[in-house]
Formats: sequence, C-alpha cells, structure tokens
Amino acid sequence: MKQNSRLDFAQARSLIIGELSSAGITNPLLEADMILSSLLCVTRAYLYTHPEKILPGTFQRSLSGILSRRKQREPLQYILGFTEFYGYRISVGHGCLIPRPETELLVEYALEKLGGDYFLDWGTGSGCISVAMLKEKTSASCMSVDMSSLALSWAWKNMKSHCLIDRCLLWHSSSLQDMPVEDLSLDLIVSNPPYVKSDVIEDLMPEVQIFEPRIALDGGHDGLSLCFQLLGWCARKLKRDAYVLVEIGGPDQAEILKNHQFPGLYLEDIINDLSNIPRMLSWRRV
Ligand code: GLN
Repeated sequence: MKQNSRLDFAQARSLIIGELSSAGITNPLLEADMILSSLLCVTRAYLYTHPEKILPGTFQRSLSGILSRRKQREPLQYILGFTEFYGYRISVGHGCLIPRPETELLVEYALEKLGGDYFLDWGTGSGCISVAMLKEKTSASCMSVDMSSLALSWAWKNMKSHCLIDRCLLWHSSSLQDMPVEDLSLDLIVSNPPYVKSDVIEDLMPEVQIFEPRIALDGGHDGLSLCFQLLGWCARKLKRDAYVLVEIGGPDQAEILKNHQFPGLYLEDIINDLSNIPRMLSWRRV
C-alpha cells in the first residue's frame, strides 16, 4: 500500500478487500469492515454512511501492518486482539483458542441446566464460557481451569475487564486430581476440551493449524482423550441431578460416547449445532 496516497473510507475498503482476496481469505468483505471499524473505533454503519471521509495517515500505516499479518493467515481476532462471544467482548491472542460461535450453544444449555450457583469450566482457554455464564447469572461463581498458563493469562484479563475476578477461581493444572474440588460440591461442569483428532490437525486451515495452540485442539487419536478423563473423574464431584456438558467434534465422537457407560452418569441429550452436526452432550449425575 502506498503510504502517501490519501485514501477515503470507500477506497480503503476496496483496497483491503482486494488484498485479502488475493491472499485467499474467504470472507474479505466482512473482514474489511471489521478491520476499518476497529481501527477507526466507529461502527460499520458509520463506514457505510461516510464513504468520502479520509483515512488519517497514521491509520494507513497501521492498516499496512494489519494487512501484512493477515496475509500470512494470522487470525484476524489475534491481530485485532478481541472477538465477540455471547454478546461479550473477549480479548484473545497467541496462546488461547479463539472462541467459536458453536460454543455459544454450550453456554446457552449450561445456563439452562445450572440448578445451583457453583460450576466448573474445565479447559477454560480465554475464559469465554465462564465470562458469559457469570455475566448472565449474577449469583453464580466458578472455578475455571486450564493446563496452559498462557491461556489462563487471557482468562484472567477477561475476568478482570468484565469485573468478574472475585467470582472466579482461575486454576492452573493439567491433572484433574490436584484440583481443589470437594466431593458432591458442583452444580454443573461445562467443558470445551481439545477434541480434534491428532492426525487431522495438519489438514486444518492455516489460521488454526499454524497460529492456534495445539494444546487447545489436540484430543488424541479419536479426539476424545480429554473428554474421557473428565467423564471418568467427575461423577463423585457433582451434586445429585447436576449436569456435565461437553462440546464435541461431530457424529463419530457422539457415537463413541453414546455407546460408553460412565459410572454415575446418565446420558440425557445429544444436541446438534446450527449446521446440524452433533456438537454437545449432556449427562446427569444419578
Ligand atoms: N472447534 C474447534 C475447531 O474445529 C476445535 C475446538 C476444540 O478442540 N475444542 O477448530
């Protein structure tokens, strides 16, 4: 991009769309709007209603930086530093999984199934699930656990910016055994564990495969190793009739879990996402 040419908003948008398209980015129109509105701190509507406004020179330099990172296929959410999840702004960057829209479904069901006030969010990553649930249910508190200290630093940032730090215990652990959870103490467990099969990670889009943390994606040979650990451990920690809700990767995983009996747990529901793919399972403590 030429630094000395004066671009108006409409020209800047066309330039961004052209550069992103040539780099093979699939949704260049949306991304162009996101880049410009976040850079200029204005709404998308403002961009459309003020196409003749000139982009200040300093923004043109920032724009060059953003485009060169995005053309390397770094996720836009990492570059801008945030994403939206369940209507809340979640800070994200290297070391945490970018919250996906499918996971909003998990939050919706978790809120529905949360009978009491205390829940465990296992594999919290950016903390997006905990943030959304604590914001929606103001009497609730939680323990949010992750095996990555880098991810937990994002969760901490998000708890802090949403003023939730006093309602959440952030716990760094890769072992279920060393978590301070009393027997029969939990009203709900919610988890979006790593569930991608190890051998398909190489086939994922570059944004995911190169930039997102493998530790947050890799669920072992069938994608279910973390899920099995959790379901084998959790029954005695849950109160009677409390639920455990887990996000999964699709029909194969649903089938495996459906055919497995976890002591103390009754499989109640398999819920499909908006693309009609089995995305979430819920068990009740019996
Ligand atoms: N939904 C993510 C993806 O397909 C995976 C998230 C996870 O493993 N929990 O990229």
